[in-house]
Amino acid sequence: MLSLNRQAIALISDHADPAAEIGSEEAGGQNVYVRHVGETLAALGWQVDMFTRKNHTDTEAIVQHSPHCRTIRLKAGAESYISRDLLFEHMPEFLDSFQAFQRTQGMNYPLVHTNYWLSAWVGMELQKTSGIQLIHTYHSLAAVKYQSLVEIPHFANTRLKIEREILERANCVIATSPQEQETLRSLVSTRGQIEVIPCGTDTNNFRLTSKTHARAKLKLDSREKVVLYVGRFDERKGIETLVRAFALLKSDEFKNLKLIIVGGSSANMPDGAERIRIENLVSELGIKDSTVFAGRIGHDVLPFYYTAADVCVIPSHYEPFGLVAIEAMACGVPVVASNVGGLKFTIIPEETGLLVEPKNVEAFANGIHRILFDELWVRKMRKQASANVNQRFSWSGVTIQLSELYRHVLARSIMHEQDWSYKMPSMTRSA
Ligand code: UDP
Repeated sequence: MLSLNRQAIALISDHADPAAEIGSEEAGGQNVYVRHVGETLAALGWQVDMFTRKNHTDTEAIVQHSPHCRTIRLKAGAESYISRDLLFEHMPEFLDSFQAFQRTQGMNYPLVHTNYWLSAWVGMELQKTSGIQLIHTYHSLAAVKYQSLVEIPHFANTRLKIEREILERANCVIATSPQEQETLRSLVSTRGQIEVIPCGTDTNNFRLTSKTHARAKLKLDSREKVVLYVGRFDERKGIETLVRAFALLKSDEFKNLKLIIVGGSSANMPDGAERIRIENLVSELGIKDSTVFAGRIGHDVLPFYYTAADVCVIPSHYEPFGLVAIEAMACGVPVVASNVGGLKFTIIPEETGLLVEPKNVEAFANGIHRILFDELWVRKMRKQASANVNQRFSWSGVTIQLSELYRHVLARSIMHEQDWSYKMPSMTRSA
């Protein structure tokens, strides 16, 4: 439903469909971010249209999430799965479809918030032809990603160039952690406006509840020690490190340990190869009987997994933010995570979890061991972890900051102001 009283804005998320199922190779944090930001902005009074590529013939062209928030799927290439590595050539068609949609609605969005570098290109093309205000969130940065890739993709230079240009040309870029801001400044450009606004989580859904109830719901033995992983199957997520660390602990005489791995799509999707590799490794290491591959789990059931766990492990090689960390902590589960990127921002070492060297199997095994076998400390951490997330990362608080930023940018464009002079509102608790 369009409303004349509301200011319409567009969120663009080329490959990450806000209405998609989460947890498969292509669907992860970006889908969750755009969907929650969109819905919460609508609740704050905006008319929010979220644009993504239509990647299936059977999906609806428009999904209405709430009266003032919808996902609009645009034609750009075949209506089937296309790897994001091959999507750039379809972005001109995405741009045409976006403009055609605006024409049919008889409107122009004054503010466009793009997500990921492919959408950044669309945003900058729109900026050339109309007076839009442009905001961008990266979600992933080539300058970091390519440092650890053996094979650099063919479009590497194009992506690096677009990621630099968007920082220099957008009205404002959003870094989701101070660590991401530093990376942008040191590896991308010293020019352009950056504001730090973190990602958030739904603290009504991810919250402290009864562990006994969660264990019963998932039919888990109450005497078992449960180690949990939640996320996509991607080599950079470091699942191999976790599996090897778990095998170390298991061989160290602890019999009642269980590893639950949540996430992943069907075997014929691109993440299938990594899942098969991890499954083979689990067999090789002799931990098959104590490992469960739970598959993709929706946010309706996921809180039970976090609550049932004794520790949640995030062994990523890099994370600009890392939603899983705040979801786990919101449920009162201490985390053992790689000491990288946004995880250094969200986790308070020794108070809400532990940060250890990425890819270091022994360090992960030690961290997991410390948490599994110190009940008194864990009881304290449980409360601290949940309180920390409630205070700093509720979607409503985070989205108020975004909403204020949009207002500032729009007001500045009307007044033709040159100075940025913006002061970030402090984080406000949910209403
Ligand atoms: N996720 C989910 N079900 C799954 C696996 C993952 O809902 O089976 C969600 C998870 O809860 C989180 C997101 O996918 O909200 C992953 O975000 P994160 O920032 O941790 O990683 P990304 O996918 O962006 O690399």
